[in-house]
Amino acid sequence: MSDFLFADIIIPVALKTSYTYQVDERLKNLIKVGSRVYVQFGIKREYIGVVERLHHDKPDYKGVKSVSRMPQFVPAISLKQLDLWRWISNYYMCTIGEVMDAALPSGLKAGLKDEDIAGSLTGYRPKEEIIISLAERYDEARLNKVLDSMARSPARTRLLTAFLDLTGYGDVKFPQKVRKSELIKKANVSGVVLNTLIEKGIFQKSVIEALRFEQTGKICSPVNPLTSTQIKAKDEIDKFYTDKEVVLLKGVTSSGKTEIYIHLIEEQLKKSKQVLYMLPEIALTTQIINRLKNHFGNEVGIYHSRFNDNERVEVWRRISGDMKDHRFSVILGVRSSLFLPFSNLGLIIVDEEHDNSYKQQDPAPRYNARDTAMILARKHGAKVLLGSATPSVETMFNARNGKYGLVEITERYGKVNMPEMVIADTRDAHRRKIMISHFTPVLINAIEEAIAGGSQIVLFRNRRGYAPVIQCKECGWTPVCRQCAVNMTYHKGLNKLRCHYCGAVQAVPKTCDSCNSTDLEMRGFGTEKIEDEIQMLFPEAKVARMDLDSTRKKGSVDKIISDLEKGKTDILIGTQMVSKGLDFEGLTVVGILNVDNMLLFPDFRSHEKCFQLIEQVSGRAGRRRKRGKVIIQTSDQYHSVMQQAINHDYDAMFHQQINERKEFNYPPYTRLIKIYIKHKEMDTVKRSSMKLAGLLRDSFGSRILGPEYPLVARVQSLYLMTILIKIEPRKSLVKAKEIILWAMEKTKRDPGNSSVRIYADIDPL
Ligand code: ADP
Ligand code: ZN
Ligand code: ZN
Repeated sequence: MSDFLFADIIIPVALKTSYTYQVDERLKNLIKVGSRVYVQFGIKREYIGVVERLHHDKPDYKGVKSVSRMPQFVPAISLKQLDLWRWISNYYMCTIGEVMDAALPSGLKAGLKDEDIAGSLTGYRPKEEIIISLAERYDEARLNKVLDSMARSPARTRLLTAFLDLTGYGDVKFPQKVRKSELIKKANVSGVVLNTLIEKGIFQKSVIEALRFEQTGKICSPVNPLTSTQIKAKDEIDKFYTDKEVVLLKGVTSSGKTEIYIHLIEEQLKKSKQVLYMLPEIALTTQIINRLKNHFGNEVGIYHSRFNDNERVEVWRRISGDMKDHRFSVILGVRSSLFLPFSNLGLIIVDEEHDNSYKQQDPAPRYNARDTAMILARKHGAKVLLGSATPSVETMFNARNGKYGLVEITERYGKVNMPEMVIADTRDAHRRKIMISHFTPVLINAIEEAIAGGSQIVLFRNRRGYAPVIQCKECGWTPVCRQCAVNMTYHKGLNKLRCHYCGAVQAVPKTCDSCNSTDLEMRGFGTEKIEDEIQMLFPEAKVARMDLDSTRKKGSVDKIISDLEKGKTDILIGTQMVSKGLDFEGLTVVGILNVDNMLLFPDFRSHEKCFQLIEQVSGRAGRRRKRGKVIIQTSDQYHSVMQQAINHDYDAMFHQQINERKEFNYPPYTRLIKIYIKHKEMDTVKRSSMKLAGLLRDSFGSRILGPEYPLVARVQSLYLMTILIKIEPRKSLVKAKEIILWAMEKTKRDPGNSSVRIYADIDPL
């Protein structure tokens, strides 16, 4: 025991443990578990760390550094948050520093040398606003006198009259305030004029904290009354919650799931509880946020990476109650919103729960936000609602065996029919030579008809860019990425080749690298090419595209969606992004272009994913009055998945999949852990992978598969191999992870292996 106070501090890097610092006298009474503090780490490197533990055990090494400064403005990390960090770090096998790094916006973790100088550049600062008021109380007579005295300065007169206009002339209550920016604009004068009147003691200025998010008007429309079918579903949900923590709401597309969410949110707000509403993708937040704001106004906040850091920190503060007059009670966000400082969460909605985007791939923590949401909910005693028209096989399994409550809605709102599903056989069309570039006559006719009838069309293709392959006609050479073992995709807008794995760009080759031939052809087609061709086939139509490339700029998704809403777009072409959430009255035709390639993908989930995708994209069609039509272009129409999709037969899909999973021992009948081994030299990867697999086999026996090369065996200059571990649900996962950690460490200690990157991906997708 020592008289001094020590703090174990989490630093946002991949360190195994937290580090111990001595707490400076001056901070003794301020610092607590969860406090953010400035710490020196490494040579001349400063970080913001988070206090994990406070104690009096002096570390047994020399040169213990001290903490002496804490950043301002933002409250400490709560114990519940720290608990969640710890759970993620244990479950997903990463360091708590990595979790911290993912959890905090950079404004809350950027270490700075000089707070005052650098602070205005990167560190979080509240937004300030200058407020102008009259310096003293003036009655009308005195005001007129002042105005008279300004008679020879039109600018000053304009300024004072503008002030009086804005604050309400004739009702000069002291103190009346206006924003400086508003005043200057209205008066149309320069800041110098204002400063003069401040110096003369007529006006005074003060500084207040401003909001970074636009406030909507205060009037919120009441929630829509639910239909009897929806009421029944909601009653069932409520009933399940008396003894279950998680309920799955499986409702066909456009059945009004979102309307039910809105009712559930309203009930939570009445109980003064917070609600987290999660969506898998940023693109989806646009339409939903408007629906939520309609009812809940300024109580709704939105959180994702498109917001800049200051905005994200503001959301952070408004959720924590730090800005108490501007509290957010509902947060609409993507997976990282789990990390916000909720104090009183009542409900977490995980919409489109089946979506893979809930899983973070890289970097660590490789967490699944849907699964982590259940842990977060438990910490708050909150409920979880999983929503989907096409639940994942695992979730449906849990619902059928009673772990989750299961509530189903089988009809669309307004009893609108499910869309008509039409197969367009591309193999046949090719044989009969009736394909029109990449489109079947069936699809072209449907587009023509829709346009003639003033309807809108969505065309889905799960590949972005123009042409995925460029090939030499003489020798078959194709350009591949210098860092990854994949073909480069041609992007016409960019007029460059781009690697979809690492983002590298190359110039478009004019000649073959291998035989110098100039006879290069483009093969395959992505969204960009479809856009081009559709525009050529339908020159009058207004065509737009929504994919990763067309939505890089902030606000671009909003623009695409509002154009559709306003009927400014006739045909929208897009990737996965168009498959979810979109709810447009005029949209009646959906074309799905060649999803067959998905069925060939060697993954035990590929059939499930293909079914979900078709069902989701189809769900965009004919959501109001008019019945929609979906054209699926395929060369494999008798494939069971195609048949299940055209019959909207989720149950058939589920049964087939669950039987296969059981037979071949895949989730939910087993848990998977995938280990990645990466290095810039192939030999090193091979050697360490063999070693690791050997060590693991000693303990796990035939539960180990691999090592093997994944589909893309080199990414960003690193070769990689994977090892798959299957663990029966009844076996201890904790024990298994201990063995895995030990084996990874041991492998890395072998000569020549210290620079190999080895990590585990738990419940990989
Ligand atoms: P889902 O989330 O299941 O796809 P939505 O909640 O988006 O379905 O509902 C589909 C459409 O029907 C939306 O435009 C929605 O506003 C409308 N709708 C659904 N239920 C109601 C209701 N009870 N009252 C008014 N409109 C509704
Ligand atoms: Zn060639
Ligand atoms: Zn690459």
